[in-house]
Amino acid sequence: MNILVINCGSSSLKYQLINSDTEAVLAKGLCERIGIEGSQITYQPAGGDKEVTVSPMPTHTQAIQLVLDALTNEKNGVIKSLKEVGAVGHRVVHGGEKFTSSTLLTEDAIKAIEECNDLAPLHNPANLIGIRACQELMPGVPMVAVFDTAFHQTMPEEAYLYGLPYEYYENYKVRRYGFHGTSHSFVSKKAAEVAGKPYEDLKIIVCHLGNGASLSAVKNGKSVDTSMGLTPLEGLIMGTRSGDMDPAIMEYIAKKENLDIAGVMNVLNKKSGVLGLSGVSSDFRDLEEAAAAGNDRAEKALKAYNYRVVKYIGAYVAAMDGVDVIAFTAGLGENGKSTRKAICDHLSYLGIKIDDEANSIRGKDVVISTPDSKVQVMVIPTNEELAIARETLALV
Ligand code: ADP
Repeated sequence: MNILVINCGSSSLKYQLINSDTEAVLAKGLCERIGIEGSQITYQPAGGDKEVTVSPMPTHTQAIQLVLDALTNEKNGVIKSLKEVGAVGHRVVHGGEKFTSSTLLTEDAIKAIEECNDLAPLHNPANLIGIRACQELMPGVPMVAVFDTAFHQTMPEEAYLYGLPYEYYENYKVRRYGFHGTSHSFVSKKAAEVAGKPYEDLKIIVCHLGNGASLSAVKNGKSVDTSMGLTPLEGLIMGTRSGDMDPAIMEYIAKKENLDIAGVMNVLNKKSGVLGLSGVSSDFRDLEEAAAAGNDRAEKALKAYNYRVVKYIGAYVAAMDGVDVIAFTAGLGENGKSTRKAICDHLSYLGIKIDDEANSIRGKDVVISTPDSKVQVMVIPTNEELAIARETLALV
């Protein structure tokens, strides 16, 4: 069966058509600037060239129509008609406490997702727009929602409660939810396979280090803690997000910089992290280059970033009373060998030893620790689209 995977944001939409039998990507691409002047669609069939077409997309429905046209195009489409799309898998950011796993999209499920909108006001409404647009254009095709939060719903109470009035949890559902769940689940399962041991018997720490970044502690196949919270702002220092900080800083900088809450939130989400620290870039390639050229602030940003990861690893070793596997994934986790090395150099107390040659291998599942290392350290490329396609297949 062919499964269309949709990741719909407020002004962009990523898509992949995946054959669930072979797990091959038949085509993939991106619609950008939906609802804004200058919208364009990128389309790339497997083994073919990337094609960029400028085309008006006033709404998400038009954007999805263009995706479907591209997939069925006589010239370089990969399917003859929409009848060859057996199901659609939608990435949905926030499932609150309602969704502990992926769900078939019925009217009730959609209503329940809408009820989570408050928890992710930037993301969930956009995800729902994508769902509605697909329903309009592909009536009768089964659709599934796969949530970023669902994998972490196994966290125990002591890990998800904040030290706030309990009524905030009861009345407003203020608690830690965690994100990147599809990736943490996919990578931790793969890590167990690579280790050749049952998933249910392992203590795994997954370091998802991309533009957004989070760690998870996966014990006996269940997420028991993760670094992002009510929103993706908590935890690690990220590309542009602050991660953990003293909440009193908000009032302090609001006064100093004459900002309201929205202004402070904008700084914490978009102008902080390694971008804010370095003043150079949120991209680690730029930071590494700048640091190598002697840029002191880029160097400080990288050190602060790594230090935060190291602290979280320590916390999760404590949370699980040990660790068997540490797995790095996402853009920086998969490609940043000096970041991995710098982090692991802090972990000699765990008996971790890195094989520098293995640490240089790219693009596949690889164990980067030495055979006598007490903890296996791995690089496992994440594949959230494939994970969504698998979840979708399982439910339809
Ligand atoms: P997201 O999905 O959150 O946008 P990705 O997982 O694609 O993020 O990761 C993007 C980040 O990965 C980039 O910001 C960049 O800093 C980092 N990255 C990608 N390639 C490399 C590389 N070769 N070396 C170091 N960092 C890299």
